[in-house]
Amino acid sequence: MTERHSPLASGAATILLTGGAGYLGSHTCVALTQAGYQPVILDDFSNSDPVVLDRLEQLLGQPTPCVRGSTADTKLVADTLKQHKAAAVVHLAGFKAVGESVAEPLKYYANNLGGMLSLLQAMASTDCRTLVFSSSATVYGDPATVPITEDFPLSHTNPYGHSKLVCEDMLAALRHANPGWQTGVLRYFNPVGAHPSGLIGENPRGTPNNLMPLLAQVAAGLRPHLDIYGQDFATPDGTGVRDYIHVQDLAQGHVAALRALLAGQPSFTVNLGTGRGQSVLEMVKAFEVASGRSVPWRLAPRRQGDVASCFADTTLAERLLGWRATRALHEMCADAWRWQLSLSGQTQPTPIGRPGSRPP
Ligand code: UDP
Repeated sequence: MTERHSPLASGAATILLTGGAGYLGSHTCVALTQAGYQPVILDDFSNSDPVVLDRLEQLLGQPTPCVRGSTADTKLVADTLKQHKAAAVVHLAGFKAVGESVAEPLKYYANNLGGMLSLLQAMASTDCRTLVFSSSATVYGDPATVPITEDFPLSHTNPYGHSKLVCEDMLAALRHANPGWQTGVLRYFNPVGAHPSGLIGENPRGTPNNLMPLLAQVAAGLRPHLDIYGQDFATPDGTGVRDYIHVQDLAQGHVAALRALLAGQPSFTVNLGTGRGQSVLEMVKAFEVASGRSVPWRLAPRRQGDVASCFADTTLAERLLGWRATRALHEMCADAWRWQLSLSGQTQPTPIGRPGSRPP
Protein backbone atom coordinates (compact mmCIF):
# COMPACT_ATOMS: atom_id res chain seq x y z
CA MET A 1 0.00 0.00 0.00
CA THR A 2 1.38 3.41 -0.94
CA GLU A 3 0.04 6.10 1.30
CA ARG A 4 0.49 9.82 1.79
CA HIS A 5 -0.16 10.70 5.38
CA SER A 6 -1.44 13.77 7.04
CA PRO A 7 -2.64 14.35 10.55
CA LEU A 8 -6.41 13.85 10.57
CA ALA A 9 -8.37 16.71 12.04
CA SER A 10 -9.76 15.50 15.34
CA GLY A 11 -13.53 15.10 15.42
CA ALA A 12 -13.97 15.29 11.65
CA ALA A 13 -15.90 12.33 10.20
CA THR A 14 -13.61 10.45 7.83
CA ILE A 15 -14.97 9.70 4.37
CA LEU A 16 -13.36 7.26 1.94
CA LEU A 17 -13.40 9.04 -1.42
CA THR A 18 -12.77 6.62 -4.28
CA GLY A 19 -11.54 8.26 -7.46
CA GLY A 20 -10.67 11.30 -5.37
CA ALA A 21 -7.84 12.41 -7.67
CA GLY A 22 -10.12 12.55 -10.71
CA TYR A 23 -12.07 15.45 -12.16
CA LEU A 24 -15.16 15.17 -10.03
CA GLY A 25 -13.24 13.53 -7.18
CA SER A 26 -10.81 16.42 -6.71
CA HIS A 27 -13.63 18.98 -6.57
CA THR A 28 -15.54 16.74 -4.16
CA CYS A 29 -12.42 16.47 -2.01
CA VAL A 30 -12.31 20.25 -1.74
CA ALA A 31 -16.03 20.50 -0.96
CA LEU A 32 -15.91 17.74 1.68
CA THR A 33 -12.89 19.28 3.42
CA GLN A 34 -14.42 22.74 3.39
CA ALA A 35 -17.62 21.28 4.85
CA GLY A 36 -15.63 19.88 7.80
CA TYR A 37 -15.20 16.26 6.69
CA GLN A 38 -11.87 14.47 6.41
CA PRO A 39 -11.65 12.75 3.04
CA VAL A 40 -9.23 9.88 2.50
CA ILE A 41 -8.62 9.38 -1.20
CA LEU A 42 -8.40 5.94 -2.79
CA ASP A 43 -7.25 6.22 -6.39
CA ASP A 44 -5.32 4.00 -8.78
CA PHE A 45 -4.40 6.97 -11.02
CA SER A 46 -5.56 5.09 -14.11
CA ASN A 47 -7.21 8.28 -15.36
CA SER A 48 -5.74 10.93 -13.09
CA ASP A 49 -2.42 12.46 -12.21
CA PRO A 50 -0.75 12.37 -8.75
CA VAL A 51 0.07 16.09 -9.21
CA VAL A 52 -3.60 16.66 -8.29
CA LEU A 53 -2.66 15.81 -4.69
CA ASP A 54 -0.23 18.72 -4.63
CA ARG A 55 -2.86 21.00 -6.13
CA LEU A 56 -5.34 19.92 -3.46
CA GLU A 57 -2.78 20.67 -0.78
CA GLN A 58 -2.26 24.13 -2.29
CA LEU A 59 -6.01 24.75 -2.26
CA LEU A 60 -6.76 23.29 1.16
CA GLY A 61 -3.60 24.29 3.03
CA GLN A 62 -3.15 20.70 4.21
CA PRO A 63 -2.41 17.36 2.56
CA THR A 64 -5.27 14.93 2.00
CA PRO A 65 -4.40 11.33 2.90
CA CYS A 66 -4.27 9.17 -0.22
CA VAL A 67 -4.05 5.43 -0.68
CA ARG A 68 -2.87 4.36 -4.12
CA GLY A 69 -4.90 1.35 -5.20
CA SER A 70 -8.07 0.02 -6.72
CA THR A 71 -11.52 -0.59 -5.29
CA ALA A 72 -11.14 -4.07 -6.83
CA ASP A 73 -8.63 -4.81 -4.04
CA THR A 74 -11.13 -5.81 -1.36
CA LYS A 75 -8.50 -6.25 1.36
CA LEU A 76 -6.95 -2.88 0.67
CA VAL A 77 -10.36 -1.18 0.85
CA ALA A 78 -11.34 -3.02 4.05
CA ASP A 79 -7.98 -2.22 5.68
CA THR A 80 -8.31 1.44 4.68
CA LEU A 81 -11.86 1.69 6.02
CA LYS A 82 -10.76 0.15 9.32
CA GLN A 83 -7.53 2.08 9.68
CA HIS A 84 -9.23 5.43 9.12
CA LYS A 85 -12.47 4.47 10.91
CA ALA A 86 -14.39 5.74 7.89
CA ALA A 87 -17.98 6.78 8.58
CA ALA A 88 -19.02 6.52 4.92
CA VAL A 89 -17.82 6.09 1.35
CA VAL A 90 -18.26 8.40 -1.63
CA HIS A 91 -17.69 6.16 -4.64
CA LEU A 92 -16.61 8.00 -7.78
CA ALA A 93 -13.94 5.62 -9.15
CA GLY A 94 -14.93 4.21 -12.51
CA PHE A 95 -14.53 4.48 -16.25
CA LYS A 96 -16.85 6.96 -17.96
CA ALA A 97 -16.24 7.14 -21.71
CA VAL A 98 -19.37 5.95 -23.51
CA GLY A 99 -17.64 5.26 -26.86
CA GLU A 100 -14.82 3.34 -25.22
CA SER A 101 -17.36 1.25 -23.32
CA VAL A 102 -18.90 0.19 -26.64
CA ALA A 103 -15.47 -0.73 -28.04
CA GLU A 104 -14.21 -2.42 -24.85
CA PRO A 105 -17.23 -3.66 -22.88
CA LEU A 106 -15.31 -6.13 -20.72
CA LYS A 107 -13.01 -3.35 -19.50
CA TYR A 108 -16.10 -1.44 -18.34
CA TYR A 109 -17.89 -4.37 -16.74
CA ALA A 110 -14.70 -5.50 -14.99
CA ASN A 111 -13.83 -2.07 -13.61
CA ASN A 112 -17.23 -0.50 -12.92
CA LEU A 113 -19.02 -3.66 -11.73
CA GLY A 114 -16.04 -5.56 -10.34
CA GLY A 115 -14.84 -2.45 -8.50
CA MET A 116 -18.31 -1.81 -7.06
CA LEU A 117 -18.74 -5.43 -5.94
CA SER A 118 -15.39 -5.48 -4.22
CA LEU A 119 -16.03 -2.12 -2.55
CA LEU A 120 -19.40 -3.29 -1.23
CA GLN A 121 -17.86 -6.51 0.09
CA ALA A 122 -15.20 -4.51 1.89
CA MET A 123 -17.84 -2.17 3.32
CA ALA A 124 -20.00 -5.09 4.51
CA SER A 125 -17.02 -6.80 6.13
CA THR A 126 -16.16 -3.67 8.10
CA ASP A 127 -19.77 -2.73 8.85
CA CYS A 128 -19.48 0.59 7.04
CA ARG A 129 -22.79 0.70 5.14
CA THR A 130 -23.24 4.33 4.21
CA LEU A 131 -22.50 5.11 0.57
CA VAL A 132 -22.90 7.98 -1.89
CA PHE A 133 -22.75 6.56 -5.40
CA SER A 134 -22.11 8.38 -8.67
CA SER A 135 -24.70 7.33 -11.21
CA SER A 136 -25.63 9.15 -14.39
CA ALA A 137 -28.54 10.57 -16.35
CA THR A 138 -27.57 8.01 -18.97
CA VAL A 139 -29.75 5.54 -17.02
CA TYR A 140 -32.81 7.34 -18.48
CA GLY A 141 -31.82 6.23 -22.01
CA ASP A 142 -33.82 8.26 -24.55
CA PRO A 143 -36.36 10.06 -22.34
CA ALA A 144 -39.88 10.41 -23.76
CA THR A 145 -40.18 13.97 -22.38
CA VAL A 146 -38.17 16.56 -20.47
CA PRO A 147 -37.58 17.59 -17.72
CA ILE A 148 -36.72 14.16 -16.35
CA THR A 149 -37.95 13.06 -12.94
CA GLU A 150 -36.39 10.20 -11.00
CA ASP A 151 -39.37 7.91 -11.62
CA PHE A 152 -38.88 7.92 -15.42
CA PRO A 153 -38.35 4.49 -17.02
CA LEU A 154 -34.74 3.31 -16.95
CA SER A 155 -32.81 1.80 -19.84
CA HIS A 156 -29.35 1.67 -21.33
CA THR A 157 -27.81 2.02 -24.75
CA ASN A 158 -24.16 1.17 -24.03
CA PRO A 159 -22.06 -0.84 -21.52
CA TYR A 160 -21.19 2.29 -19.52
CA GLY A 161 -24.86 3.07 -18.94
CA HIS A 162 -25.56 -0.60 -18.29
CA SER A 163 -22.84 -0.68 -15.62
CA LYS A 164 -24.45 2.30 -13.83
CA LEU A 165 -27.87 0.64 -13.90
CA VAL A 166 -26.51 -2.66 -12.54
CA CYS A 167 -24.72 -0.77 -9.74
CA GLU A 168 -28.00 0.94 -8.83
CA ASP A 169 -29.67 -2.50 -8.79
CA MET A 170 -26.91 -3.92 -6.58
CA LEU A 171 -27.57 -1.18 -4.05
CA ALA A 172 -31.33 -1.81 -4.15
CA ALA A 173 -30.72 -5.52 -3.45
CA LEU A 174 -28.45 -4.70 -0.52
CA ARG A 175 -30.97 -2.30 1.00
CA HIS A 176 -33.64 -4.96 0.64
CA ALA A 177 -31.48 -7.60 2.31
CA ASN A 178 -30.24 -5.35 5.10
CA PRO A 179 -31.92 -2.06 5.94
CA GLY A 180 -28.67 -1.03 7.64
CA TRP A 181 -27.42 0.05 4.21
CA GLN A 182 -27.92 3.75 3.62
CA THR A 183 -27.32 4.79 0.06
CA GLY A 184 -27.53 8.06 -1.84
CA VAL A 185 -27.61 7.52 -5.60
CA LEU A 186 -26.76 10.68 -7.55
CA ARG A 187 -27.71 10.80 -11.20
CA TYR A 188 -25.46 13.43 -12.75
CA PHE A 189 -26.37 15.39 -15.81
CA ASN A 190 -23.42 17.05 -17.63
CA PRO A 191 -20.62 18.14 -15.27
CA VAL A 192 -18.48 20.96 -16.70
CA GLY A 193 -16.21 23.78 -15.58
CA ALA A 194 -13.36 23.71 -13.11
CA HIS A 195 -12.27 25.19 -9.80
CA PRO A 196 -12.04 28.99 -10.20
CA SER A 197 -8.45 28.89 -8.91
CA GLY A 198 -7.42 27.20 -12.17
CA LEU A 199 -5.60 24.57 -10.09
CA ILE A 200 -7.86 21.56 -10.72
CA GLY A 201 -10.10 20.63 -13.61
CA GLU A 202 -10.73 17.97 -16.21
CA ASN A 203 -7.66 16.69 -17.99
CA PRO A 204 -8.89 14.14 -20.51
CA ARG A 205 -6.26 11.80 -21.92
CA GLY A 206 -6.24 11.83 -25.72
CA THR A 207 -9.19 13.28 -27.63
CA PRO A 208 -11.92 14.48 -25.26
CA ASN A 209 -15.37 12.94 -25.70
CA ASN A 210 -17.36 15.73 -24.14
CA LEU A 211 -18.42 19.07 -25.53
CA MET A 212 -16.90 21.47 -22.98
CA PRO A 213 -13.25 20.34 -23.18
CA LEU A 214 -13.58 20.31 -26.98
CA LEU A 215 -14.93 23.88 -26.97
CA ALA A 216 -11.99 24.92 -24.81
CA GLN A 217 -9.46 23.25 -27.10
CA VAL A 218 -10.96 24.85 -30.21
CA ALA A 219 -10.99 28.27 -28.52
CA ALA A 220 -7.35 27.74 -27.53
CA GLY A 221 -6.45 26.97 -31.15
CA LEU A 222 -5.54 23.36 -30.41
CA ARG A 223 -8.24 22.14 -32.81
CA PRO A 224 -9.37 23.90 -36.00
CA HIS A 225 -13.11 23.58 -35.35
CA LEU A 226 -15.87 21.88 -33.41
CA ASP A 227 -17.98 19.24 -35.14
CA ILE A 228 -21.61 19.81 -34.20
CA TYR A 229 -23.24 16.40 -34.18
CA GLY A 230 -26.60 16.92 -35.85
CA GLN A 231 -28.73 19.99 -36.48
CA ASP A 232 -32.03 18.25 -37.11
CA PHE A 233 -33.04 17.26 -33.60
CA ALA A 234 -36.49 18.24 -32.34
CA THR A 235 -35.05 21.15 -30.32
CA PRO A 236 -35.43 24.93 -30.76
CA ASP A 237 -32.28 25.32 -32.91
CA GLY A 238 -31.95 21.69 -34.02
CA THR A 239 -28.84 20.91 -31.97
CA GLY A 240 -28.74 18.65 -28.92
CA VAL A 241 -29.89 20.07 -25.58
CA ARG A 242 -28.20 19.08 -22.30
CA ASP A 243 -28.22 20.11 -18.66
CA TYR A 244 -24.70 21.42 -17.98
CA ILE A 245 -23.86 21.74 -14.29
CA HIS A 246 -20.80 23.34 -12.73
CA VAL A 247 -18.56 20.67 -11.20
CA GLN A 248 -18.43 22.67 -7.95
CA ASP A 249 -22.22 22.57 -7.67
CA LEU A 250 -22.07 18.84 -8.29
CA ALA A 251 -19.38 18.44 -5.62
CA GLN A 252 -21.58 20.31 -3.16
CA GLY A 253 -24.42 17.95 -4.09
CA HIS A 254 -22.25 15.10 -2.78
CA VAL A 255 -21.71 16.92 0.49
CA ALA A 256 -25.46 17.50 0.83
CA ALA A 257 -26.13 13.81 0.11
CA LEU A 258 -23.56 12.65 2.63
CA ARG A 259 -24.83 15.04 5.28
CA ALA A 260 -28.37 13.74 4.80
CA LEU A 261 -27.32 10.09 5.07
CA LEU A 262 -25.14 10.68 8.13
CA ALA A 263 -28.06 12.50 9.77
CA GLY A 264 -30.08 9.30 9.35
CA GLN A 265 -32.19 10.25 6.33
CA PRO A 266 -33.51 7.18 4.45
CA SER A 267 -31.80 6.14 1.22
CA PHE A 268 -32.59 8.18 -1.88
CA THR A 269 -31.96 8.50 -5.62
CA VAL A 270 -31.85 12.04 -6.98
CA ASN A 271 -30.97 13.97 -10.12
CA LEU A 272 -28.10 16.44 -9.90
CA GLY A 273 -28.55 19.01 -12.65
CA THR A 274 -29.55 22.65 -12.98
CA GLY A 275 -32.98 21.96 -14.46
CA ARG A 276 -32.09 24.05 -17.53
CA GLY A 277 -31.22 22.82 -21.00
CA GLN A 278 -28.67 24.45 -23.34
CA SER A 279 -28.19 23.63 -27.00
CA VAL A 280 -24.79 23.02 -28.59
CA LEU A 281 -25.07 26.34 -30.45
CA GLU A 282 -25.89 28.16 -27.21
CA MET A 283 -22.81 26.56 -25.66
CA VAL A 284 -20.63 27.71 -28.55
CA LYS A 285 -21.86 31.29 -28.11
CA ALA A 286 -21.44 31.23 -24.32
CA PHE A 287 -17.91 29.92 -24.68
CA GLU A 288 -17.00 32.57 -27.21
CA VAL A 289 -18.14 35.27 -24.79
CA ALA A 290 -16.30 33.71 -21.85
CA SER A 291 -13.05 33.19 -23.72
CA GLY A 292 -13.07 36.22 -25.98
CA ARG A 293 -12.05 33.84 -28.77
CA SER A 294 -14.01 32.54 -31.70
CA VAL A 295 -15.03 28.90 -31.84
CA PRO A 296 -15.28 27.83 -35.48
CA TRP A 297 -17.68 24.96 -36.03
CA ARG A 298 -19.02 22.83 -38.83
CA LEU A 299 -21.98 20.54 -39.12
CA ALA A 300 -21.39 16.82 -38.77
CA PRO A 301 -23.72 13.82 -38.78
CA ARG A 302 -25.44 12.83 -35.56
CA ARG A 303 -23.34 10.83 -33.14
CA GLN A 304 -24.71 7.35 -32.58
CA GLY A 305 -26.85 7.08 -29.47
CA ASP A 306 -27.22 10.84 -28.89
CA VAL A 307 -30.66 11.92 -27.70
CA ALA A 308 -32.28 15.23 -28.66
CA SER A 309 -32.88 16.68 -25.25
CA CYS A 310 -31.93 15.72 -21.71
CA PHE A 311 -32.39 17.90 -18.66
CA ALA A 312 -33.32 17.33 -15.07
CA ASP A 313 -36.27 18.01 -12.88
CA THR A 314 -34.38 18.99 -9.73
CA THR A 315 -37.34 19.23 -7.36
CA LEU A 316 -36.53 16.04 -5.45
CA ALA A 317 -32.89 16.92 -4.76
CA GLU A 318 -33.99 20.31 -3.52
CA ARG A 319 -36.66 18.82 -1.27
CA LEU A 320 -34.61 15.94 0.14
CA LEU A 321 -31.16 17.50 0.31
CA GLY A 322 -31.83 21.22 0.46
CA TRP A 323 -29.40 21.48 -2.45
CA ARG A 324 -29.59 23.21 -5.79
CA ALA A 325 -27.09 24.31 -8.38
CA THR A 326 -26.28 28.02 -8.15
CA ARG A 327 -23.56 28.65 -10.74
CA ALA A 328 -24.56 30.16 -14.09
CA LEU A 329 -23.49 29.09 -17.57
CA HIS A 330 -21.06 32.00 -17.93
CA GLU A 331 -19.23 30.83 -14.79
CA MET A 332 -19.03 27.28 -16.13
CA CYS A 333 -17.48 28.56 -19.36
CA ALA A 334 -15.18 31.10 -17.67
CA ASP A 335 -13.84 28.48 -15.25
CA ALA A 336 -13.39 25.90 -18.03
CA TRP A 337 -11.49 28.53 -20.05
CA ARG A 338 -9.25 29.49 -17.12
CA TRP A 339 -8.45 25.81 -16.64
CA GLN A 340 -7.70 25.39 -20.34
CA LEU A 341 -5.30 28.33 -20.20
CA SER A 342 -3.55 26.91 -17.18
CA LEU A 343 -3.23 23.54 -18.97
CA SER A 344 -1.65 25.15 -21.97
CA GLY A 345 0.47 27.50 -19.87
CA GLN A 346 -1.11 30.62 -21.34
CA THR A 347 -2.19 33.67 -19.45
CA GLN A 348 -5.78 34.74 -19.55
CA PRO A 349 -6.61 37.41 -22.13
CA THR A 350 -8.99 40.21 -21.21
CA PRO A 351 -12.28 38.49 -21.84
CA ILE A 352 -15.35 40.11 -23.32
CA GLY A 353 -18.68 39.95 -21.49
CA ARG A 354 -17.19 39.97 -17.97
CA PRO A 355 -17.42 36.17 -17.70
CA GLY A 356 -15.68 35.98 -14.35
CA SER A 357 -18.24 38.09 -12.52
CA ARG A 358 -20.71 36.36 -10.23
CA PRO A 359 -24.45 36.98 -10.67
CA PRO A 360 -25.97 39.34 -8.07
N1 UDP B 1 -21.43 17.40 -29.11
C1 UDP B 1 -21.11 17.95 -30.34
N2 UDP B 1 -19.82 17.87 -30.76
C2 UDP B 1 -18.85 17.29 -30.02
C3 UDP B 1 -19.17 16.73 -28.77
C4 UDP B 1 -20.48 16.81 -28.34
O1 UDP B 1 -21.96 18.47 -31.04
O2 UDP B 1 -17.70 17.23 -30.49
C5 UDP B 1 -22.81 17.50 -28.63
C6 UDP B 1 -23.47 16.15 -28.39
O3 UDP B 1 -24.07 15.65 -29.58
C7 UDP B 1 -24.51 16.53 -27.32
C8 UDP B 1 -23.81 17.62 -26.52
O4 UDP B 1 -22.79 18.13 -27.38
O5 UDP B 1 -25.66 17.08 -27.89
C9 UDP B 1 -23.15 17.14 -25.24
O6 UDP B 1 -22.29 16.06 -25.55
P1 UDP B 1 -21.39 15.38 -24.42
O7 UDP B 1 -20.64 14.24 -25.06
O8 UDP B 1 -20.60 16.43 -23.73
O9 UDP B 1 -22.45 14.84 -23.36
P2 UDP B 1 -23.58 13.69 -23.51
O10 UDP B 1 -23.96 13.55 -24.94
O11 UDP B 1 -22.95 12.47 -22.95
O12 UDP B 1 -24.73 14.18 -22.70
